[in-house]
Amino acid sequence: MGLLTIGAFARACGLTAKALRLYDEMGLLPPAAVDPESGYRLYEPAQLDRARLIARLRGIGMPLAEIRDVSRMEPAAAAEAIGAYWRQVTADAAVRGRLASLLVDDLSGRGSTMTNLTIRHAVRCDAGTVRDTNEDAVYASDRLLAVADGMRGPGGAAASTAAIDALRPLELAQAPATDLLAMLADAVARADSVVREGATAEHQPVTTLTAILRAGSRLALVHVGDTRAYLLRGGDLVQLTQDHTYVQSLIDRGTLSHAQAAVHPQRPLLVRALGTGDHVEADLALRTGLAGDRYLLCSDGLSAYVDRADIEAALAEPGGAPEQAVQRLIELAYAAGAPDNVACVVADLGPVS
Ligand code: MG
Repeated sequence: MGLLTIGAFARACGLTAKALRLYDEMGLLPPAAVDPESGYRLYEPAQLDRARLIARLRGIGMPLAEIRDVSRMEPAAAAEAIGAYWRQVTADAAVRGRLASLLVDDLSGRGSTMTNLTIRHAVRCDAGTVRDTNEDAVYASDRLLAVADGMRGPGGAAASTAAIDALRPLELAQAPATDLLAMLADAVARADSVVREGATAEHQPVTTLTAILRAGSRLALVHVGDTRAYLLRGGDLVQLTQDHTYVQSLIDRGTLSHAQAAVHPQRPLLVRALGTGDHVEADLALRTGLAGDRYLLCSDGLSAYVDRADIEAALAEPGGAPEQAVQRLIELAYAAGAPDNVACVVADLGPVS
């Protein structure tokens, strides 16, 4: 069988004549001969196998430079190289897929990074009337609300501050809402390590931590200890967190009433906190925020001394901005004697105007 014209060869191998000219220029598939008069490229039938392999490698999207290498390999080595190439393609596609879903979320307002709710917040953190130090810490931004209550003693204030600081990098994270909880869990583990590093031979600092990380309308809640998160929605106040205290465990077992717990001598005893036990165990939850929601994060300096009904009334005051609500809550704590440090964050979710 003689030489094939480029047209006949192209039809036989499934490549176009234009592609064959390109592969010649790239040294990928030079013709067997070039007609000296017409300049036409001519191919050996024996080149068909290589041409078909190139066509199939193009079909899976392999770049020409890689095809040049792979098409010269022994079959076993080529098979291995193709497998490695495809694993890389799959990994790249997974990364691009995540970025694409992030973009879709943003543009469609399901927003992990684009805000489809506004947030307005106010914070207060007071030592109270009895304590001469303040181990509570509080933080609020468009994306992160946090309160932490460091136990009295050396390192308490540093522990509560460190706990919140460990969450701060998440404010800048560009991640789908579904990743928020894992990110928070990692951040809490980091915070726990930092708190433990503050230990001395005699004393291990301990702190609570309650925080909300927002991505668009998704709210990731992390909680450990007896700081609390509340939600006022539609006029009803709901406590979003369970206290990790000894008395709460007695209430859960039905051996103690709420009224008894409030005056129990071991009321402040925590069963979970950063810096206690073998490792920290935080409660994590993903919630959806709605325009009109009002969130309160507070330390036990408020919740242990001010009646829940009074907290609810202060939060529900019509037309009250977060600054006024926080001011009113602090006044209530002082009216109750403010025996402990008291920290509050009030944050309102509103529609984008
Ligand atoms: Mg306290």
